[in-house]
Amino acid sequence: MRSGRPFVVLVAQLRRAVGTRQHERRQGEIEGLDCSGSSVPEGATPVAEVVLEAVLGGVSVTGAVRAPWAGACRRCLTPASGVLTLAVRELYTDEGDGEETYPLVDHEVDLEPLVRDAVLLELPQAPLCRSDCQGLCPFCGVNRNDEVCGCEAPPDPRWSALDALRVPEGRVESESSSSPGSS
Ligand SMILES: [Zn+2]
Ligand SMILES: [Zn+2]
Repeated sequence: MRSGRPFVVLVAQLRRAVGTRQHERRQGEIEGLDCSGSSVPEGATPVAEVVLEAVLGGVSVTGAVRAPWAGACRRCLTPASGVLTLAVRELYTDEGDGEETYPLVDHEVDLEPLVRDAVLLELPQAPLCRSDCQGLCPFCGVNRNDEVCGCEAPPDPRWSALDALRVPEGRVESESSSSPGSS
């Protein structure tokens, strides 16, 4: 059964005494978790596993957020994926506006914006299929993780530009030949 607001925790009971704690594990779909390089796949359900504690003026939330991500490797363009596991430690207060602290409205702590912010901050912008991905050959385009192509890089044009600036040899010789006999 899917509740409409899986990340909402009622905290009226919890807030009766400062220091009271409550463990919660909430999971659900959150739309729009993407960045230019990767995203949380459609249908995937990020998890918040946290401890809520009543503090003066609000509720602190400490724990972990987990979410799968998928994207294209920035070097070889094949699918890349992984799982984010993020430590979170946030405060919900009656005056919260989502900037310094999250809002506590009608005795409800909504963990969804916390999960959203944590995931959006850490989604890989430039994912790799693996840390030592060899990428595509810039000359023939083969995936160098799978194939050896034998293409060689052409001479670097910056070096040929330096060659052209070399002082002609005859000039160097004439300078050194002026010293004998001066002492
Ligand atoms: Zn790759
Ligand atoms: Zn090649």
